Amino acid sequence: MKKKITVIKGDGIGPEIVEQAMLVLDSVASRFSHSFEYQPVLAGGCAVDAFGTPLPDETVKACLECDSVLLGAVGGPKWDGLEPALRPEKALLGIRKQMGLYSNLRPAKLFPELAEASPLKAAIAAEGIDFLVVRELTGGIYFGEKKTVIQDGERVASDVMLYSEHEVERIARVAFDTARKRRKKVTSIDKANVLESSRLWRSVVERVADEYPDVEYQNMLVDNAAMQIVRKPSQFDVIVTSNMFGDILSDEASMITGSIGMIPSSSLGDGTRGMYEPIHGSAPDIAGQDKANPIGTILSAAMMLKYSFDMEQEAACVEEAVERVLKQGYRTADMAEEGKITVGCKQMGQLIVAAMEEQ
Ligand code: NAD
Repeated sequence: MKKKITVIKGDGIGPEIVEQAMLVLDSVASRFSHSFEYQPVLAGGCAVDAFGTPLPDETVKACLECDSVLLGAVGGPKWDGLEPALRPEKALLGIRKQMGLYSNLRPAKLFPELAEASPLKAAIAAEGIDFLVVRELTGGIYFGEKKTVIQDGERVASDVMLYSEHEVERIARVAFDTARKRRKKVTSIDKANVLESSRLWRSVVERVADEYPDVEYQNMLVDNAAMQIVRKPSQFDVIVTSNMFGDILSDEASMITGSIGMIPSSSLGDGTRGMYEPIHGSAPDIAGQDKANPIGTILSAAMMLKYSFDMEQEAACVEEAVERVLKQGYRTADMAEEGKITVGCKQMGQLIVAAMEEQ
């Protein structure tokens, strides 16, 4: 198969981790006789520096004309002081909106080899952590009207949290369809005791749940969910939630699996074209030092193979290679352990490619 991949390396550790994921994709291509053509484009802080905008038109065009997008991360202190429209994160919101990517899938899985790196008690981690956060990505409070006004002599700011029925219904369907391929359990997370938008969310998800009698379904308030994720993570299979709650809960979920550097994500709309990126940011504190963990990006490339290119076997080959390298005792600095071998970003990528070739 021939696939065109738009590559956005971005800022900070972005270039280092994406390069390793591309080596892994090259190895998949030669092993399974595929051809991946990469189109590199700029977005984020580096695009502000080069073009004066975080999301150049050429980048949007490349994202709309490819088979999928692979992204590292954007942002960093250099661009923190810019006005909101020029901030690097604007690029991500813009790409998601332009590509119509409304569902963000973030798996939280604890590899048994990393149990020691999880901050949870061994007994809780031993029960297993393997759930998927399905986060709504193009609606909610991040996209609602924002304003700051002067009222009674002081500044008053507001962000509108708005959801329409069709937005909730389509993300609920993604969650239930995905649960059917997993352990058939959906937990919808909201704040329906306080928020009107959550009451609408709950009523629509409940209606969709009726169409999936084979999938177990429950609601949970977001404050309780934040607690349950650390108390008994094994109870979750698929979590479906709004943009902001999903943003926060998936970072919490990443921490209990050992390191934020391990977690991939996919963003999809109605078609097969998606955007794939690790859930972490650009980690400016370790950028350019060959210390970054490339596994979240490599597993994001594996998700691209599975969800956008229908290459199940190829994705499994990458995932198994990651597990094998962890079993062999190799770790990047973020998950370093006594008695294990700490390696840099490049070496971790090379080890994973070597493990693929051994299979
Ligand atoms: P971050 O995720 O970049 O870093 C948080 C901590 O985790 C840091 O200590 C960092 O060194 C570590 N870390 C993250 N990824 C790692 C990896 N692959 N390997 C090893 N360690 C890793 O979050 P932050 O510090 O809050 O944000 C830094 C910048 O990234 C900000 O400008 C922020 O806006 C941006 N950001 C971008 C994205 C994105 O591009 N999708 C997401 C979140 C934050």
